[in-house]
Amino acid sequence: MQNHNNAPFPFMQLPPELRDMVYENLLEDPHYPPPRPCPETRSPSWLSSMAQIGSSTDAKTAGHKSNFLFLANKQIYAEYMDLMCKKTTFYMTVAPHNYTPLDPSAEEEKDIWQISPEVLKKIKRCEIKLVTTSTMLDMSDPRTMKSEEWNLARQMRRQLSEIENISELKLNVKAIGDPLWSPLWVWYHATEALREMGSSSVHENDCRKSTVADDKVKSVASSHSAPSGPQFSLITLALDMWSPGENYLMRDPANNNQWAWWCLKGHCVGRVGTEHPVRQFCSWLYDCPTCSPEDIGGD
Ligand SMILES: [Zn+2]
Repeated sequence: MQNHNNAPFPFMQLPPELRDMVYENLLEDPHYPPPRPCPETRSPSWLSSMAQIGSSTDAKTAGHKSNFLFLANKQIYAEYMDLMCKKTTFYMTVAPHNYTPLDPSAEEEKDIWQISPEVLKKIKRCEIKLVTTSTMLDMSDPRTMKSEEWNLARQMRRQLSEIENISELKLNVKAIGDPLWSPLWVWYHATEALREMGSSSVHENDCRKSTVADDKVKSVASSHSAPSGPQFSLITLALDMWSPGENYLMRDPANNNQWAWWCLKGHCVGRVGTEHPVRQFCSWLYDCPTCSPEDIGGD
């Protein structure tokens, strides 16, 4: 229908269900940070957080059909965000380009993702990509490092603890090649630091450093009998170069949703107990007793 008198269409007078139908046509999976980060803006906070969804100020705009919505008004923003949290998958990346190592002198540590707690709270599906160099492990010797003390993972746990009722949370750990370190250490520490999030009290000692953020985690953890934070359901491992294909970790519904290793053909390779020594990790990373009972040379 043509609008001849140029008066704006009274969109807000539509019933909410109809507005939702319009939004649904525009839904896109949000990426944090956006593929091409745009320079910092001085927009109001609700607007600048929106800029993280799509890089609204550069030529990439064409690829984000819903960008204009974010600029309409606060109510449309809120309604669209609500729907986006319910229906899309959030892709959140931590990589060398968006991670700054912890500054011990800082009063409060920075969030990894520029995403508000109100939005995090409502997310239903999320895939986290952790792209890690050995430097980001922030330890001189990975063999003696304690996974739960890894700062980056602790920061991730802190921010993810805002998530309240997620149905699917996945983790992909990509190790960046390093001539001195085996990628195994990156995979191992990432897995160990994150796989028990939300399922037991193993990370109570997160509160060791009494920053403002940690106190918050502590108060959340102690106010509920169940520990805070969502649970990962799947952990996949990758390299930034060719690899034979790593087995992955997934919760096993047949075993009380405990972690187990699976081969790429879906055979259960081994069940992970509370202890998950690096020796066991190595052997389950590539082996599958079903696919190759003896050795690779079988028929
Ligand atoms: Zn197999």
